[in-house]
Amino acid sequence: MNNKIAGLHHITAIAGNAKRNYDFYTGVLGLRMVKKTVNFDDPGTYHFYFGNETGAPGTILTFFPWEGIGTGRIGTGMASEIGYAVPIGSLGFWAERFQQLGVQHETNIERFGEKLLSFTDPDGLKINLIEPLQDDQRKPWQAAGVTEKEGLKGFHSIVLTLNDIKATAEILTDVFEYRLQAQEGNRYRFITDAVENASIVDLEEAPELGRGVNAAGTNHHVAFRVANEDILMNYRAKIAARGLSITPKIDRDYFFSLYFREPGGVLFELATDNPGFATDETAEALGSSLRLPKQYEPSRAKIEAVLPKLD
Ligand code: ZN
Repeated sequence: MNNKIAGLHHITAIAGNAKRNYDFYTGVLGLRMVKKTVNFDDPGTYHFYFGNETGAPGTILTFFPWEGIGTGRIGTGMASEIGYAVPIGSLGFWAERFQQLGVQHETNIERFGEKLLSFTDPDGLKINLIEPLQDDQRKPWQAAGVTEKEGLKGFHSIVLTLNDIKATAEILTDVFEYRLQAQEGNRYRFITDAVENASIVDLEEAPELGRGVNAAGTNHHVAFRVANEDILMNYRAKIAARGLSITPKIDRDYFFSLYFREPGGVLFELATDNPGFATDETAEALGSSLRLPKQYEPSRAKIEAVLPKLD
């Protein structure tokens, strides 16, 4: 991965009810909650992180659950579909599980030569389980009812839906060093060789959809991965040099970040591998208790009283 953009770091989406979101991602999909904290800008709201055992970059899906926020609409200028890699031969298991648990899904889809099962979470967020062509050695988290033979390994890809793909494609190729790998209809697959998995971004050109509305059931931003803060700041300079406005470096406690809106309208973040999630609790205990950033620790009792109960 050296000094390049190393695929996806995390994806952040918006949910409605917190408990329903928590139950779905841990209980139905079998992901591990690797961090339970609050929105740093709105501490009366949770920030959930779901991932593999350690919350490795490229496996982390995060949510802001805002009760009563209303439903968003998928459209242009946003990330529209999250792709998870699953073990070869496991899609039948997932179709049966979703059937039993009443999860809306669609089977027998093939895209870019890969088998795919598409479903929506309880808020309407679109997710695809994909049996990847590229070998994927990442170990899934094992939860009740989901074993290593079926578990989600981490991200395969993200789909960005755009009015016109050109300017976004240029950011991917000219700044992030991705290359166009294939095209199918209005979908263009970009890939980086800097990392083995979570290395794909699909651009979907769909002007007829109109602008998306960001609320429950839609993605808020897509974070790309860099090894450390030096590389982060190198990319900051490259992006600023293209005339795009970009934030200063922000300390997110578990990684350092920059945010910018790419010309197609999608909010991009760059996030570092360091320091990771096992900083304020042990690797074994990840996600088991509410973690607060320093500035909110004095208000812990008040915050705990307003956050929704999860069990
Ligand atoms: Zn983020």
